Amino acid sequence: MALLPIVLASDEDPVLVTRATRVPRVDDSIRKLMDDMVETMVDAHGAGLAAPQVGVPLRVIVLKVDNQVYQLANPEMVRCEGEQTGLEGCLSLPGLIGEVKRCERVVARGLNRHGKEIRVKGDGLLARAIEHEIDHLDGILFTSKVIEGTLRRWDPADENAAEALEGELVG
Ligand code: ZN
Repeated sequence: MALLPIVLASDEDPVLVTRATRVPRVDDSIRKLMDDMVETMVDAHGAGLAAPQVGVPLRVIVLKVDNQVYQLANPEMVRCEGEQTGLEGCLSLPGLIGEVKRCERVVARGLNRHGKEIRVKGDGLLARAIEHEIDHLDGILFTSKVIEGTLRRWDPADENAAEALEGELVG
């Protein structure tokens, strides 16, 4: 496995604002991408990561919530219910957080690392992360959905701020 460089919005790379392409087949190269993305996400303390964030314009996302890792190709939202409002950040926009309204419970489907169709059901942070990462595949950053007036800077080195945000930052 390898750590991949994370594309930042400040790099102005169009990959972050472009609709990603469907994965035609889950092969070894996709499995390697998924594994490298998990390693990169864990290293960066994210709850999720989308392939465009590592410069790859494909519909692949990874998630890690409550110590459970998910790897999905071609994820699609099947169900989105209820509503939650909470703080969100993005590994491509370090130092920025804001409140975003998301579904409280979601069901997504996609292909796992063996190319088999699976469903991922989640609420709370997992639901938020699934929506945030699928948005990345459509070239959407959380800053375009942030509730007006709530976007602010935070210092990841500030321990109090980091503690308050524990488990809230997304990816
Ligand atoms: Zn993000």
